[in-house]
Amino acid sequence: MITIGVLALQGAVREHIRSIEACGAKAVEVKRVEQLEEINGIILPGGESTTMRRLIDSYGFFPALKEFGRQGKPVFGTCAGLILMASEIDGQDNAHLGLMNMKVARNAFGRQVASFEADLEVSHIGDAFNAVFIRAPYVLEAGPEVEVLATYQDRIVAAKQGHYLCTAFHPELTDDNRVIAHFVTMVEASMKATA
Ligand code: GLN
Repeated sequence: MITIGVLALQGAVREHIRSIEACGAKAVEVKRVEQLEEINGIILPGGESTTMRRLIDSYGFFPALKEFGRQGKPVFGTCAGLILMASEIDGQDNAHLGLMNMKVARNAFGRQVASFEADLEVSHIGDAFNAVFIRAPYVLEAGPEVEVLATYQDRIVAAKQGHYLCTAFHPELTDDNRVIAHFVTMVEASMKATA
């Protein structure tokens, strides 16, 4: 059975667990590095990226998550998770995991519109998504290997690079599970490729 982990150090974990299960896969809250061996793909949830990075370091997840990705196992970052995956963060000297070749801006939609919902089309996945943005980042610049999947007001809010997927919004906060279902198919494909 396909088993998908959710990094459970901080943030919107339970909602992702529910969405994964709704897509028919097994979901695991990942709190220890050893658990990465039991899962076929991982979701880095929304929350607060600086706090999450601190916990990633203190629980020894930093090299383990990079290695997980290097093995070709899919990683999906939502919101703060997208920030963790970027190779560059606007205005900061250091990025985090650097899995995707892109520069991101944090809290990029400004204070006035900290949280909002938008109707979005996501390439390969579908249209009429009710996308929930919460103090969301966006992708300022994407490298040539990054495929843009969705934009909102000309800003990149969903992208894919090989087995890596990210969204600036929170697909786990609605009952529309199509984005997570797409991630499940990516995990399925990677399992076939490495079988
Ligand atoms: N603004 C948060 C950060 O910079 C992300 C917000 C979220 O994940 N909902 O980490």
